[in-house]
Amino acid sequence: MSVPANLLSILACPSCKGKLVWGENRESLICRGERLSYPVRDGIPALIRVEATELSPEELEKVDKA
Ligand SMILES: [Zn+2]
Repeated sequence: MSVPANLLSILACPSCKGKLVWGENRESLICRGERLSYPVRDGIPALIRVEATELSPEELEKVDKA
């Protein structure tokens, strides 16, 4: 399951309003600027700061390569 590209283009990080990218290796949307990962449940992104988990630089690098 993934988020359609047209939906992804209108979504923004609720914390910094930055662009989000789809994390291919996990069901999540990634804010690169803050290294936050927002979970996607049943195709619905949980874009709430408290739901986000912080990624390590190593994890973020994997996202960049996906
Ligand atoms: Zn952000």
